[in-house]
This record gives sequence, C-alpha cells and structure tokens, in this order.
Amino acid sequence: MHIENTVRLDFKDVLIRPKRSTLTSRSEVDITREFKFLHSSEKYHAIPIIAANMDTTGTFEMAQALGKHGLSTALHKHYTIDEYVAFFSRLEEKHTAFYSLGIGDGDWQKFCETMRRAPQGAIRYVCIDVANGYTEAFVAFVRKVRDTYPDLVIMAGNVVTGDMTEELLLSGADIVKVGIGPGSVCTTRKMTGVGYPQLSAVIECADAAHGLGGRICSDGGCTVPGDIAKAYGGGADFVMLGGMLAGHNEAGGETVEVDGKFFKRFYGMSSKDAMDKYAGGVAKYRAAEGKSVLLPARGPVEPTVQQILGGVRSACTYVGARRLKELTMRTTFVRVSMQTNDIFG
Ligand code: 5GP
Repeated sequence: MHIENTVRLDFKDVLIRPKRSTLTSRSEVDITREFKFLHSSEKYHAIPIIAANMDTTGTFEMAQALGKHGLSTALHKHYTIDEYVAFFSRLEEKHTAFYSLGIGDGDWQKFCETMRRAPQGAIRYVCIDVANGYTEAFVAFVRKVRDTYPDLVIMAGNVVTGDMTEELLLSGADIVKVGIGPGSVCTTRKMTGVGYPQLSAVIECADAAHGLGGRICSDGGCTVPGDIAKAYGGGADFVMLGGMLAGHNEAGGETVEVDGKFFKRFYGMSSKDAMDKYAGGVAKYRAAEGKSVLLPARGPVEPTVQQILGGVRSACTYVGARRLKELTMRTTFVRVSMQTNDIFG
C-alpha cells in the first residue's frame, strides 16, 4: 500500500485569477483551435467541444445542431451500419462527428463494415473508449485500429495519468480521453473507490501528451461553462460534455410527463437502464456503475451552446487571451474553499 500526499484538484477547488489585458471586447476572442495530430494527417480547425458518446447525447440530431456552431459530437454506438453510412455520407465537416466503438469483436466488425460502405474519407474521426483504459487488450486494440486505418484521427480512453497517456499516444492515439469517475451520472467512485480528481488528471495528462505532440480531451465533470474554461486552462485541448447537453430536444432518451411538467431521462452508459436496453440486463458478475436521472426538459440545445461559448469567451477576456490557444499559458489557478455565493439557491 502506498499513499500519495500531494493534493489533487477538481474544478470546484480552484478559480482562474484575472489578469491585465488589452482586449476590449469578448467578440475579439477566437475560441477555435487549429490542431495537427501526432499520427493522422487530418487538419482540425473548429471549437474543441465534443458531445459525449452516450446514447442520450451522442445523437445525429445533436451532431447537426452542434455542427452548425463548429462543435463536435461523438456518436453513440447503437445506430445501425445503414444509419451511420447515410449520416457520414452527408457530413460536410469531418470533425463534426466521431464514430465511437468499444473493443469487442462485434464493435470491430461493425466499424470495418461501416468504413467499407461509407464513401472514402467520410469517416475521419473515431473515438475508442472503455471505462478502464489501463488494460493491455485496450492498448492492443488501439494499435490494431491505427495499423488498419493509418490516417484516422483516433481518440482513445479513458485514463487519468501521464504514463498511460504516453502509452496510448505511442500506440496510435492522436487524442487521449481523460477522466475516470467525474461524470454526472457516473457511480464508479462510489462503487469501486477508484478515480482521480479531474483537473489534476487534465494537468498531468496534458503535460505528458503535449511533450509527445499528442492531444487530450477532458471527459466528464463539467457542470457549468466555467468548468470548461478551467479544463482548457489546465491544458485540455478538447472538452467532452454529457450532462450539460442532456435534456435538450436533440438529446435521445424518453420524455416523461409528471404533473404536467416534462422531463427527459438521462442515464450513464454503465447504468442498469443502459444495460437493460442493450445487454439484456446487468450481468451477474458485475454491478452498474452509472445512474439514471430525470432532467427537466430544456428545449433546443442552441441557447445552451451560446451560454457555453459565451462563458469560455469571457474567461479568455478575463485573462487577456485573444485566442483559446493562449488560455492555458495565461491561466493561474487559485485554490479556494468557496466557489460561489449560494444564498439565493
Ligand atoms: P458529464 O459531462 O455528464 O459529467 O460526463 C460525461 C461522461 O461520463 C461521459 O463522456 C463518460 O465518460 C462518462 N460516463 C457516461 N456514462 C457513464 C456510466 O454509466 N458510468 C461511468 N463511470 N461513467 C459514465
């Protein structure tokens, strides 16, 4: 047994210190990023926010709505091959959608078949993810995808430490997805005691990735636009959002009416609800590591996107970052014991 005594931080533990700046308006801030990747020759230029590949947020409708603003969506795994082929055939900006897959044989066969049937080059971005990115089987799978499709942009995860970030990048990933346990409908930390405070995970993984020319995506734990700004401040190249985009018209999941009010169901992909739906129930040897909640229906996602982009733009203004790219180097975090004044709820 070993104890590490260095404090690791979450978004709620810090604020970003304001800095003097010559910027006069939020409208001067450019929140797009341009990336070259470690392996793929694809060039990315867009707003590095990605809807999570949960079946409640990673929908075609979400991709369409977010795509209009230059954001991306990691599609969930449960569409049919025909549906993916039709969707990707029509996609104009390749970064708008990531094809997602796990590491099972079925995932691999479905992916290869989709790649074979989609027009050449239509699918450029893929997200390979598992709850625990620390296994040899996962690393081997990432390597297999890289060897088979040398020019794809591969995002792979999830991990929370620098050593495994390096391993995945050296095994073929372009973007490493970071986060174990911070998600809004995740119960991994409760069920297993395993996890890592998200901001520190981002800082440590970004440091490891950037040294190799890799990228990272902070996945999970953002509850307000300020958390997204903190993730970028900590070094995240991309930020993935589940809960903040859930409950909108474009999100999947049933709508429920309770006493004349409308709610949308949102559940973790390892929750009992998800396993009942896709795996015929929770297998005897495992426990659910996600929960299911009802969110008040939030209408179209567009106003939420404006809020998010406005918040990030404003964060850049406060520290004098003319471009999102400059946010990390202009960020000084201060540790706090209180985030907000909640007297009025
Ligand atoms: P959020 O933005 O809602 O805080 O986090 C979204 C992320 O939570 C997803 O991208 C995914 O990594 C993670 N997640 C989704 N479903 C589950 C689940 O059932 N269990 C766990 N442990 N994590 C989940």
